[in-house]
Amino acid sequence: MSARLAQRLQAEVCVIGSGAGGAPVAAELAEGGVRVALLEEGAWHDPDHFTARSPEMLARLYREGGQTFTLGRPPIMLPLGRGIGGTTLINSGTCFRTPAHVLARWQREYGIEVSEDSLRPCFERVEEAISVDTVTPELAGGNAAVVRRGAERLRWSYGYLRRNARGCVGSGVCTLGCPTSAKQHTGITYIPRAQRAGAQILTGAQAKRVLIERGRAAGVLARLEGGATLEVRAPTVVVAAGTINTPLLLKRSGLAGRSGQLGRNLSLHPATAVFARMDEIVDMARGVPQSLYIDHFAEQGIMLEGSAGPPAYAALALPLTGARHAEAMRAFRQLAVFGLMVSDSSRGSVAALGSRPLIRYDMNAADLQRFRDGLVRMRELFSAAGAREIYLPLPAGVDPEMARRRDLKLMAFHPLGTARAHARPDQGVVDGSLAVHGLRGLYIADGSVLPSSLGVNPQLTIMALATRLALSLLEGDGSV
Ligand SMILES: Cc1cc2nc3c(=O)[nH]c(=O)nc-3n(C[C@H](O)[C@H](O)[C@H](O)COP(=O)(O)OP(=O)(O)OC[C@H]3O[C@@H](n4cnc5c(N)ncnc54)[C@H](O)[C@@H]3O)c2cc1C
Ligand code: SF4
Repeated sequence: MSARLAQRLQAEVCVIGSGAGGAPVAAELAEGGVRVALLEEGAWHDPDHFTARSPEMLARLYREGGQTFTLGRPPIMLPLGRGIGGTTLINSGTCFRTPAHVLARWQREYGIEVSEDSLRPCFERVEEAISVDTVTPELAGGNAAVVRRGAERLRWSYGYLRRNARGCVGSGVCTLGCPTSAKQHTGITYIPRAQRAGAQILTGAQAKRVLIERGRAAGVLARLEGGATLEVRAPTVVVAAGTINTPLLLKRSGLAGRSGQLGRNLSLHPATAVFARMDEIVDMARGVPQSLYIDHFAEQGIMLEGSAGPPAYAALALPLTGARHAEAMRAFRQLAVFGLMVSDSSRGSVAALGSRPLIRYDMNAADLQRFRDGLVRMRELFSAAGAREIYLPLPAGVDPEMARRRDLKLMAFHPLGTARAHARPDQGVVDGSLAVHGLRGLYIADGSVLPSSLGVNPQLTIMALATRLALSLLEGDGSV
């Protein structure tokens, strides 16, 4: 870090990160009259420049151009957002509350107070703030209609998803930045609210170290674009840099803690997609890309959720090569696609490799079996829907029942757990109120605190817990 000290700022609370965790904390606190400074490593992104062209948008809106991978068996692509809005800027907008059985497990096994009743007001507050509503069948489009037909014929339980969108026109490019700003990501909801209430939002500001003095948070040292150093002095610091970067920041700050859990317990919700060629015109590029779910196998840790996309997406994701790939792409308008996500019991870790994260993750036998079963179910689904051909994400000739780890072509979108909450300081990095064990004034409010995978998409859970933290700080537990 450059020794040049460009600025020194004074705040009551310094928040690091503007995604699902950081933005609600900043807005709620600022509106409650607290002097907030928020540091975001990425930039403000102007929706007028959201072209929906994949290479351009990946380079601009994603960390490492979307090329973050895990190391292990099998390697998994793990894209992350970077900029005001964090990963909510490029996510699909799906909104689920935390399932009751997951909350019950967190209370039982991790000793944290997260009853449905205690979280309900926070969920309601978040859903109102980001305009959560159910997708209509019309907006869901042809791809969802194919999948729905399959689910109905098989009598599987399914539903249209709830999403944080207002005035969505079904342009189908949510993960490349919503060009019409219909998707209500935190960069256009909570961050403007925080700003209006007086919070200072600093972009291009990478937090390098959390400062601790006499056992309590004292501020943050950050590197600004151009290399100068910014020091924010603040007696309360809320870290929300995301599951991959939060443990790296805390380790750099010498705050690994005595639990030995920082950087461990990484869950991912590994996922894959199956394509099918139908007789009808599907036009998967039209409509909300992620609009339907099938939760019939949720108890087995298998959630079916789609994510369709434009031809460039299909060309990359289709598990075919050569002439078969070209033939399938020629029939693009007849292609349908649906996804499979596993609520994983495997656990990985994050460590620093220079300035970059080294993410290790090996899939265990139970999760491999979930993929095998899930792929069999996906084949049944598209057969029931009347598919002419089904393209499983496996090498030619490999049956889903016999698939090995290295046969699977996986991505993951929901890293969680690397600074997990646990009532006991020898078992978790934060306690149930998201305070870092053994330190005063330091909190974590992002995906890293969630102690297990959820089986559903996590943004609402992260936002609700962040909201609860902000409200409890405002209620005056003496920290702010
Ligand atoms: C393609 C895709 C689709 C998804 N779809 C959905 C969906 O439909 N529904 C859902 O619930 N979830 C979805 N997710 C996941 C969801 O968006 C994330 O779980 C959620 O945004 C995580 O919130 P967070 O606060 O932990 O981190 P993030 O939202 O990633 O925010 C972290 C922020 O911190 C910043 N930062 C990192 N390090 C530093 C530092 N040192 N200093 C300053 N700033 C820093 C980052 O730039 C980033 O802006 C999707 C994810 C992806 C990749
Ligand atoms: S489908 Fe299009 S308009 Fe709707 S939220 Fe996604 S990108 Fe925005």
